[in-house]
Amino acid sequence: MLDRKALTEMLLWRGRDQEALFARARDSRADVWRDQVIVRGVIEVTSACVRSCDYCPMRNENSMSRYIYSTEDIINLASQIAKEKLNVVFLQGGEVPGTTQLIADVIPDIKALFQGAVEILLCLGNKPYEDYKLLKDRGADSYILKHETSDAILHHQLRHAPIGERINCLNDLIDLGYKVGIGTIVGLPGQSIDSLVNDLLMPSYFKVTMTSASPFIPAQLTPLANSPHGDVDTTLNAIALMRIMYPHLLIPTVSALEKLSPGSQVRGLEAGANVVTINFTPPSEVKRYAIYGSDRFVVRRDHALQVIEMAGLQPAISL
Ligand code: SAH
Repeated sequence: MLDRKALTEMLLWRGRDQEALFARARDSRADVWRDQVIVRGVIEVTSACVRSCDYCPMRNENSMSRYIYSTEDIINLASQIAKEKLNVVFLQGGEVPGTTQLIADVIPDIKALFQGAVEILLCLGNKPYEDYKLLKDRGADSYILKHETSDAILHHQLRHAPIGERINCLNDLIDLGYKVGIGTIVGLPGQSIDSLVNDLLMPSYFKVTMTSASPFIPAQLTPLANSPHGDVDTTLNAIALMRIMYPHLLIPTVSALEKLSPGSQVRGLEAGANVVTINFTPPSEVKRYAIYGSDRFVVRRDHALQVIEMAGLQPAISL
């Protein structure tokens, strides 16, 4: 059993201890997932956002130009995802009410492109129950709503909204029958190891099918631009511990790891992750979705397949 004391220590393991932790995580993954990695295709539907999260460059207080895709734009990108034979379409964006109707309108068309054989995964922030219900009724399957940090004070301070609001949305999504994902940003300024342990325990309190750990990236144009970035090893250990604690959950190895330290996305798989996301935002528009700042690492097909191969794993569907 991993108690709080053990989890606190293990988050900080390095060197041989860390390698042993990763090996145990890989065993847990193999028991459930064998050597299979889920590959998603993400469409970044809008850079508009009503929130002003201190870590995010798309925060409302920034006066940058914003875009929102048309249904046509989204269907074009989804057909590229279909052409590349992926079977998860991940629609992500800033939190704006307008995405509800937009996405509700396109889901049936996206499903048709894949003859129904597709998972529609959304990550569009907090919405009223009726909006989540409409999207579910139109065919959405799953929704990622990261809790970001389980530290209620820090959450409120960085997101300018109480954590309870986000948790209510999470419960609405679970009630509606979505497959739900949560996740934490590791290394947020002011975050304690003790609260990271709480983040590791979150999937035991909610009926989720996905969880994640990504390192904090200090992004330009944010109040946290000059703060230190999150620690890659602590993030990798969080991934490994999540895998050992919850073998059945989907856990991604994220592009933010690669941005901080090239090669870290492979390390994420070596630490027990089992999801990689390919980005379908056209190169000309990458800078407009300024998550992590304009110089983020954008995962394309070749990189994703290489990362999976380097970890000795296989895409879950033949690509
Ligand atoms: N508006 C949606 C999606 C946000 S973007 C929502 O509220 O859920 C997706 C994720 O990017 C966020 O959940 C957050 O965890 C992550 N993110 C944003 N800025 C970040 C940063 N500077 N460092 C690390 N992760 C960040």
